[in-house]
Amino acid sequence: MQIRITGGRLVDPGHFDGIADILIEDGKIAAIIESGQTGEQDRVSNIQRPGIQNFDASGKIVTPGLIDMHVHLREPGFEYKETIESGCRAAAHGGFSTVCCMPNTHPVNDSRQVTEYILAKAAEINLVRVLPVAAISKGIEGKTLCEYEGLKQAGAVAVSDDGNPVMNSRLMRSALERAKDLNLPAISHCEDINLAAGGAMNEGVVSKKLGIAGIPGVSESIMVLRDIALSELTGAAVHIAHVSTAGSVRAIRDAKARGVRVTAETAPHYFTLTEDAVSKCGSQAKMNPPLGTENDRMAICEGLSDGTIDVIATDHAPHSSEEKALGLPAAPNGIIGLETSVSLSLKLVKDGVLSLPRLVEKMSANPAGILRLECGLRVGRRADITIIDPDLSYTVDAAGFRSLSRNTPFDGWHLKGKPVLTMVGGRIVYEEGIN
Ligand SMILES: [Zn+2]
Repeated sequence: MQIRITGGRLVDPGHFDGIADILIEDGKIAAIIESGQTGEQDRVSNIQRPGIQNFDASGKIVTPGLIDMHVHLREPGFEYKETIESGCRAAAHGGFSTVCCMPNTHPVNDSRQVTEYILAKAAEINLVRVLPVAAISKGIEGKTLCEYEGLKQAGAVAVSDDGNPVMNSRLMRSALERAKDLNLPAISHCEDINLAAGGAMNEGVVSKKLGIAGIPGVSESIMVLRDIALSELTGAAVHIAHVSTAGSVRAIRDAKARGVRVTAETAPHYFTLTEDAVSKCGSQAKMNPPLGTENDRMAICEGLSDGTIDVIATDHAPHSSEEKALGLPAAPNGIIGLETSVSLSLKLVKDGVLSLPRLVEKMSANPAGILRLECGLRVGRRADITIIDPDLSYTVDAAGFRSLSRNTPFDGWHLKGKPVLTMVGGRIVYEEGIN
């Protein structure tokens, strides 16, 4: 089986940016022919063997398969919100060839059995790559560490108690040390639960106006500072999940300047929206950490721009309509993100926050580097490829999402730029207008 992608702008951050054709054979990249190498180009475009599939990527962007290192697939246990299958379809539709799923399922992914179950299910579905993140502590309760060696052998690519912070600093220190010994990345959900307790949105002018209990922004940065201190103490790397405040960006920037092994991610909602969205969208704009102020949003953009924030991840968090209808204080935290992430992130390029290659890097090479995954458009590598049409304008229609859930504040938004093809190991798992 051969597939030829012709005429697209190949963006492989740090390696290549230009017009080229790609030939895919047996699931791998067999040839990359730059525009101008006419002899070679003729050779590739003249291949007329039966069964060869051609994709004209003229005017489009061809990138390494995008990686979302922070999603909640909800299975096992919460299949009414999302299943591994519906989550994989949403990922493919959103341009992602790889997703990492967080362990706060039921049961929690704190055992080999759950890790193996997720991997077996994903293999059966055979759409995008699903890489399980196992829990830091048993039951994500922050009391007893999990057995990381067995979890790693079973296929876990990182550990995190995401959804819950590890409040006990002594336990977090041990977690970082053990993860370091096993070369397993540790991902930290930073939140001082005592300080945040009872809040449903950012503490500030909007929460006062709405009469809703607030969460002060420092609930996040206090724990970011603690994890930076623990990383310095142990020499272990730590990755900060869903960074949302100016204080956290400043702390991570200072730590990186000192050479601390800290990396960080943010999500599209944190550079797109502010707490004002809660007035308009109610629980559809409720997430943890909460949307911040315009000052926070600008700091996130600066952090992306200067390299303080390494990764854009969605924190795709499906919930049923009934749950979100409970209203602001009672509704669960989180919004879905897989099917709007690329379009929202492309706005950073339009606004001059990031160049296109830097954006692609934060959605492919950087998460791959943190998780030690293969990535990049190089001959001989797995053909995990995303094709984006930067000029395709559309209106977000949540009803048409592949995800089982509809909890997004972006329904009805007019966006420009959209993934039109997702390829995993040489197989097309999503093509605009076809599946
Ligand atoms: Zn989290």
